[in-house]
Amino acid sequence: MKILLSLDDYCKAYNLQIGVYSPLSYFVDSSDLISIAKEFKLKDGTFYPLPIYMPLRDRNLSNQISGQRVDLIYENDVVGLIEVLEVYEPDKDDLCIHIFGTKNIDHPGVKYFLNEPKYFISGKPTIFKSPSFAKEKYFMSPDQVKFEKSKRGFQSLAGFQTRNIPHRAHEHLQRTSLEICDGILIHPLVGWKKPGDFSKEAIIRAYKILIEKFYPKNNVIFSLFFSPMFYAGPREALFHALVRKNYGCTHFIVGRDHAGVGGFYKLYEAHELASKFADLLDIKFLLLRGPYYCKVCESVVTDKHCRHSEDMICKISGTSVRQSILNDNEMPDWLIRSQIANVLSKKDLI
Ligand SMILES: [Zn+2]
Repeated sequence: MKILLSLDDYCKAYNLQIGVYSPLSYFVDSSDLISIAKEFKLKDGTFYPLPIYMPLRDRNLSNQISGQRVDLIYENDVVGLIEVLEVYEPDKDDLCIHIFGTKNIDHPGVKYFLNEPKYFISGKPTIFKSPSFAKEKYFMSPDQVKFEKSKRGFQSLAGFQTRNIPHRAHEHLQRTSLEICDGILIHPLVGWKKPGDFSKEAIIRAYKILIEKFYPKNNVIFSLFFSPMFYAGPREALFHALVRKNYGCTHFIVGRDHAGVGGFYKLYEAHELASKFADLLDIKFLLLRGPYYCKVCESVVTDKHCRHSEDMICKISGTSVRQSILNDNEMPDWLIRSQIANVLSKKDLI
């Protein structure tokens, strides 16, 4: 018997195997899924913030595969196998309320989740053919990042999650964390993202400029993080931190509206949730305020060291960069470095 994988399924199965989602090593079952959504933990009580689930893409198999060992197929290739422990039908509407705080389909994570097949399966996958992304230049496994960290002699490493090209606020956060830590892992997520986000190629091209022309040679580890985006805001910030701990990060940067989208979460809700669960995660959170440009201070600052009023400040965000590109507006230097702006175009938005 065999089941078909989407690229996201394949990616998640491979990540489970190489320790990206540790302590999770299997696709969650119905009890885990509910327990994660409602209580931030696996059914055995271990802290876990987001469910790594496996949809069953051929619903005709739902009555046949429980307890079976089945092949995992990606694009006509047998890439692995899984012993199916449970086939279940999740209550997606209810789960959305807990996971995303809404079931509004204008939320891209909700829309993606509700569009998943009716049945999910649980079990531990074995992948014996690595996905093609694992051979890409900027792919590193958790073990490879940890090896690089130790080779460079870093005692501390800050994890930086992003799904954007670097603008001035990102740069401020990265430089701030380098004042605290020996090194930084710049780890852009390049799995499933909503339409309108930046392509993988644009992110690589833009970061190459920042890293090779501005940052010291040895302080930055740049690698791509292949995993789908949930846009689950504060909850996803905890997940992103847990994952980066598996890559050897000792610190994790949480900025303004981390993993949020379209005003669904409060700007610093992720800071609040990170503080609440900090003891359960063996990583230090760098809870940094959102940088903006102040016309009076004439620099990128935050409300921790600038006293000026709203009318003097200019917001810096990935959304404003994307909007400027779409509208052919020239971008000011305080928003994005011109060297980076010059290599971006509309074609870079997916
Ligand atoms: Zn100011």
